[in-house]
Amino acid sequence: MSRTVYLDNASTTPVRPEVLKAMLPYFSEQFGNPSSIYPLGQRASDAVAEARATLADILGAKPREVFFTSGGSEADNWAIKGVAHANRDKGRHIITSAIEHHAVLHACQALEKDGFEVTYLPVDKDGMVRPEDFRAAIRPDTVLASIMAANNEIGTIQPIAQLASIAREHGVIFHTDAVQAFCHEPLDVNGLGVDLLSASAHKIGGPKGAGLLYIRKGVRVDNLIDGGQQERGKRATTENVPGIVGFAKAAELAASELDQERSRVVELRDHAIERILAEIPHARLNGSPRSRLANNVNVSFEFIEGEGMLLQLAARGICVSSGSACTSGSLDPSHVLLAIGLPHEVAHGSLRMTLGRDTTASDVDFAVDELVGVIANLRMMSPLYEDFRHGKVPSLLS
Ligand SMILES: *Cc1c(COP(=O)(O)O)cnc(C)c1O
Repeated sequence: MSRTVYLDNASTTPVRPEVLKAMLPYFSEQFGNPSSIYPLGQRASDAVAEARATLADILGAKPREVFFTSGGSEADNWAIKGVAHANRDKGRHIITSAIEHHAVLHACQALEKDGFEVTYLPVDKDGMVRPEDFRAAIRPDTVLASIMAANNEIGTIQPIAQLASIAREHGVIFHTDAVQAFCHEPLDVNGLGVDLLSASAHKIGGPKGAGLLYIRKGVRVDNLIDGGQQERGKRATTENVPGIVGFAKAAELAASELDQERSRVVELRDHAIERILAEIPHARLNGSPRSRLANNVNVSFEFIEGEGMLLQLAARGICVSSGSACTSGSLDPSHVLLAIGLPHEVAHGSLRMTLGRDTTASDVDFAVDELVGVIANLRMMSPLYEDFRHGKVPSLLS
């Protein structure tokens, strides 16, 4: 029997059995609409309230500051478009970074068509936003800043507390896309000083289609979805009760295991990185070596086509992703890898392995063993590598 090794946990994670079990009754026996006043509805309403309290507690927020959404993308869109529109009388300038998730970047681009101005901050070679760049970009008409807590491709963790404090000094509302950081790193909305924060269930062992936006009390945000009075009139649509219950269960489990799981995964991550850099020539680690998500390995290989590498790894049962802009067949190199200064050719030969709760040391070793073989194969067939070996083209790394 062939083996499958899933190392793409930044894309999505399997729903944990405990989470599925908690969700199941809300599809069937407890199917009520939380807005209904009879007991069947009230039981659903109670389940949503309990989930909200659990998630608020994990974030150090008040339950009234937690709003359920359909996922991280909706939370990002709501935060950015909602704050921009609600505060447009104060100014029309927004600051974000060049390495945000497309949910943030494309929401900002939509606002640009609508008369807003957006500054896309560059990052350093490790993918860090420099606080001094952020401070310098703030203008009298800046209303909103959105900087991700941790990057989904290269795993770099940003100095959010420092950035949020600069924003606060200048009266700028601060949002962070914490989809990759939530329940992976300790996060407290007051410790960080953020005004809005996005999170998503399916990145932490919960179901797809559930997320949240934390909105600090007093922050003005326009609605994205108008309709009924759900979510205190801010976000209409009948609540995704099973999804919300599953989200809270996944978060509760992940938060309680955070420290232990993080240390376990860091060890596997560092083992993978060490082996790859030791055994594969002309390779480099992308992202910060220190300020980095516990589960993220992102490496670039010279003289390699990312597509070929992924296909060969897939044929060996290894699920990973590349440095392409998306998995939809786009051949554009990742905007994140370009932003940290990689040449196009190198960005094309990039690989992201993201570990998860189910990843074992044996999975990591298997994947690295196969990777070593795949890279050697591909280079053997590469005319560019041939040219390099004959001194006709230089190495772009080192
Ligand atoms: C996955 C992800 C999103 C999108 O979340 P969905 O729940 O899939 O919409 C947004 N931002 C980051 C950083 C992500 O990793």
